[in-house]
Amino acid sequence: MDVSSLLDGLNDKQREAVGAPQSSMLILAGAGSGKTRVLTHRIAWLMQVEQQSPYAILAVTFTNKAAAEMRIRVEKVAGGNMGRMWIGTFHGLAHRLLRTHYKDANLPQSFQILDSDDQLRLIKRILKSLNLDEKQYPPRQAQGYINGKKDLGLRPSHIDAGGFPIEQNLLAIYKVYQESCDRAGLVDFAEILLRAHELWLNKPHILEHYQDRFKHILVDEFQDTNAIQYAWIRVLAGVKANVMIVGDDDQSIYGWRGAQVENLHKFLADFPAAQTIRLEQNYRSTGHILKASNALIANNAERLGKKLWTEDKDGEPIGLYCAFNEMDEARFIIGCISEWLDQGKKLEDCAILYRSNAQSRVLEEALLHKGLSYRIYGGQRFFERQEIKDAMGYLRLMNNKDDDAAFERVVNTPARGIGGRTLDILRQTARQHELTLWQAALRLLEEKVFSGRAANAVRGFMDLIVTMSQDAGTRSLHLMTDHVISHSGLKVMYEAEKGEKARARIENLEELVIAARSFVMPEEGEDMGELNAFLSHAALEAGEGQADDFTDAVQLMTLHSAKGLEFPMVFMAGVEEGLFPSQRAIEEGDRLDEERRLCYVGMTRAMQKLYICYAESRRLYGREDYARPSRFIGEIPKEHVQEIRLKTQVSRPSVSTPSRKANIANDSGFKLGQKVMHPKFGEGLITNYEGCGAQSRVEVNFFDVGSKWLMLAYARLESC
Ligand code: ATP
Ligand code: MG
Repeated sequence: MDVSSLLDGLNDKQREAVGAPQSSMLILAGAGSGKTRVLTHRIAWLMQVEQQSPYAILAVTFTNKAAAEMRIRVEKVAGGNMGRMWIGTFHGLAHRLLRTHYKDANLPQSFQILDSDDQLRLIKRILKSLNLDEKQYPPRQAQGYINGKKDLGLRPSHIDAGGFPIEQNLLAIYKVYQESCDRAGLVDFAEILLRAHELWLNKPHILEHYQDRFKHILVDEFQDTNAIQYAWIRVLAGVKANVMIVGDDDQSIYGWRGAQVENLHKFLADFPAAQTIRLEQNYRSTGHILKASNALIANNAERLGKKLWTEDKDGEPIGLYCAFNEMDEARFIIGCISEWLDQGKKLEDCAILYRSNAQSRVLEEALLHKGLSYRIYGGQRFFERQEIKDAMGYLRLMNNKDDDAAFERVVNTPARGIGGRTLDILRQTARQHELTLWQAALRLLEEKVFSGRAANAVRGFMDLIVTMSQDAGTRSLHLMTDHVISHSGLKVMYEAEKGEKARARIENLEELVIAARSFVMPEEGEDMGELNAFLSHAALEAGEGQADDFTDAVQLMTLHSAKGLEFPMVFMAGVEEGLFPSQRAIEEGDRLDEERRLCYVGMTRAMQKLYICYAESRRLYGREDYARPSRFIGEIPKEHVQEIRLKTQVSRPSVSTPSRKANIANDSGFKLGQKVMHPKFGEGLITNYEGCGAQSRVEVNFFDVGSKWLMLAYARLESC
């Protein structure tokens, strides 16, 4: 592509940024204003016009999906070979660095990533070993403490707990936790970043090498970097590199994970020569969608403030649908998608976004029922499923016997008679002698501490792992995985479970073998071994178990994972008080602004059509709640919204009906004017109805809460 076409399709401000002389820059702009486009064109510009080698460029994005997309976009505009360019997420790049320099980072070559689930298990074990009560020290809180400190770059030795017993104990947990991780060769997500940062600080020759190499550093979604990520970039940049950061303070949605919007200010202080460029034209969304989003975000205080306008037409107003419950919501969404398909459009243009991962199940079921392909990004990913983690646990232990988290996971899965007492002795010995669980087991067997039965069970387990790892050398990765699934007893265990869920688990295990077969060794993994590389891939990438990349599929994801993406048609599901904003955000007040930013992110993903849905009642996390529409809906000016009415047949009683007290639905037994009792709203009178059969709705005038429409099939009304 020639130079002029690199600037084609850009407005003046965007051109200024793309074609700027080599320097540092801050691009501060609202959603859909072309920040990511500028960043990718800038990379192409650096290569083609400034003759910079891809080798000298490092680009950081926020999710694996965004990184993959950026690679494609750059390849398209630059058209060249960019194999040696580093494009990835902070975690992905830091992990790559640690793999390459594992010795300098003080890690064993076989080090593995501890995901947050396993991290929590390990913390629970540590609480027990320290005799700390889980009620007083909730494991999740301890986990938050450890990760929070790491995000700030703090090791236990840097922390002064002062005279506060709680703080002292949390610190003690952190210390013991870190020691066990180090012994077992495990790094958690925060550790990946912290260690990569320490690598810069402790090994100047390595830092120098990368400082010489990376002359250009570009960071997308900068508003969501945390302290350690920013420090990593700043140190790497040194005094020579040109750093371009792009971001939008209104889209900062990871404050709860330590992201700091203040990094935007820090950047300007640390790179005083950096020029700030603002983009104001939105190219993504129609007028209605953009104006509604702008109005919503205006409710937040403390914004840097941005103007955002579009030349686009107003388009269709935002569709607002009030569902009876979550199933009705799913039905409505699927109905709209079917209509979209009927117009000859694609499934992949539709995205369903939700606040909580747990919401996806009902949507998935409805899609499956209708035979529509879908793909889930983030969240309950394939590699996070229980059965997959069990199988991976075996593989991890075969790869590294000292992996305590894996040991804990599979030692008695499936049950092989290794009871709680035996495990307690193992853990105690491990702690006392600073051994890993595997080493402790070897020692206890040698010293004949266990009873005959327990000893046999432990020995049996260890022999199994040893035999499987010996065999491993002779098999390819997927045959080894298959072998492990059968010989570990996992397959038999899940086969013995009955029902749909168990069947799905077996299918997932089969899918794992397929995943192993299609695994391609990454560039940096040459000498780390295939199994090791596969395990890291599983922990980092979390592949998707649904439709493959070539199938046209509806996209499902949490609002958080939708950042940076765009879709012609977007559904936001479950926009209800207590769910979105979440109950916690409502209770803690100061997190409301962040929820509103999340809502802004969600709405601004839509290009042509946006639907916002809420349900009057919702069954989630095993309980049913009656909900009110989210306050965010109320913050959208009415002129941008169109309420969607139910499309069921209205069958009112005909004039010839002898009495108005007709049965509402044939067999419901309810009549107009009848007094009814509702479990939550109390007593009231039926005043109206519409729909028929499963769709029947009644209007009840409740004595306490006034009039409400309820769906008969779900309202649990009783006559009284
Ligand atoms: P977000 O804040 O959501 O990450 P963004 O600022 O990164 O958004 P992009 O994703 O880069 O925005 O761009 C939004 C859309 O607008 C994309 O489809 C992009 O191709 C298009 N776009 C950007 N700039 C222009 C332009 N000058 N002319 C036409 N289309 C443009
Ligand atoms: Mg972007």
